[in-house]
Amino acid sequence: MSEKILITGGSGLVGTALSKAYKSTSEEITLVTSSHYDLTQQLDVNFMFANHKPTKVIHAAAKVGGLGSNMKYKGGYLYKNLMMNTNVIDQANVWGVKRLVAFLTTCAFPAEVEYPLDHTKIHLGEPHESNFGYAHAKRMAEVQIRAYREQYGVKYSCVIPTNIYGPNDNFSLEHGHVVPMLIHKLYKAQRDGTDFNVWGTGKPLREFIFAQDVAELTKWVLHNYDGEDPLILSTSDEISIEHLVDLLVKEFKFTGKVKFDRSKPDGQYRKPSDNSLIKSLVPAFKFTPIEEGIKQTVEWFKENYDKARR
Ligand code: NAP
Ligand code: GDP
Repeated sequence: MSEKILITGGSGLVGTALSKAYKSTSEEITLVTSSHYDLTQQLDVNFMFANHKPTKVIHAAAKVGGLGSNMKYKGGYLYKNLMMNTNVIDQANVWGVKRLVAFLTTCAFPAEVEYPLDHTKIHLGEPHESNFGYAHAKRMAEVQIRAYREQYGVKYSCVIPTNIYGPNDNFSLEHGHVVPMLIHKLYKAQRDGTDFNVWGTGKPLREFIFAQDVAELTKWVLHNYDGEDPLILSTSDEISIEHLVDLLVKEFKFTGKVKFDRSKPDGQYRKPSDNSLIKSLVPAFKFTPIEEGIKQTVEWFKENYDKARR
């Protein structure tokens, strides 16, 4: 029997990269978005499984945003993500789905814990106050999957990516993560001849991973990984926001003024992660260098300015 793979969050940054990853496959791939089913609603999720009857699921849908958005809408991030994860994971089990991969995030880890972050440390303390709504909802997906594995014997697993970026990201100047938001700001600054405003001190460190790398690794996990340990998806290369700004300025050939606005938040200083588990499982995997990923993302945004989420 041919596999039927259902991918939630099909219109998003990761969902569109997954669609590319599955481009030439004999499996039946269905990508769904919020215009098909509102996953916060159990009835919709029930309909979704009844309609598609998938054998495998990648659950990439979530309410997702950057630092500013997470600080402002903590209740919404908690509620929507809790509901989506709870419904999708539960209904997958009800409908007999044997394999599922759900997305966590390194934002879910405790703010104060010994570095590097690894999968054993998810619950060892309070998450950073800037995104505790989102973080707690994501932690509960890990708890639900662990409980369902034990009670029902399902082979569900979690991946934990660091900061993802790439084509089809959300370039909103209110909700975006740092890479898409800075790309949008730079685009406007260059077009309008204005300053390029960056939040905070530029000192915080982040690990960026290209969305297509996340998609390829997640596909591997869905088809090959039976283990119970959540898998961190990261390059484990930290770069400062200042360094990221330099890369973007270079890519845009921007000659205007760059201003760091210290009245804006820095967020968590760093969240370095240990990628040794995924590297031991997929040793031949080559991560896209940040310079190449940024180049592709900037080109995509310029070419798709009219249709991009912004
Ligand atoms: P994204 O670009 O914002 O896409 C989110 C997707 O979820 C969209 O397809 C959206 O559909 C769908 N969605 C949102 N609310 C929904 C609802 N109520 N019902 C049904 N679908 C809904 O997010 P992403 O960056 O691809 O993130 C994918 C996964 O990776 C998420 O679980 C996220 O938490 C995780 N993650 C992301 C990052 C990052 O830096 N982006 C880092 C670590 C982990 P519509 O387009 O129809 O709204
Ligand atoms: P986080 O990794 O969950 O904190 O989320 P982000 O991807 O939004 O990254 C936030 C980091 O980028 C913080 O250190 C911010 O100070 C910095 N940053 C600099 N400029 C911007 C900006 O324009 N938007 C966002 N979202 N972050 C910015």
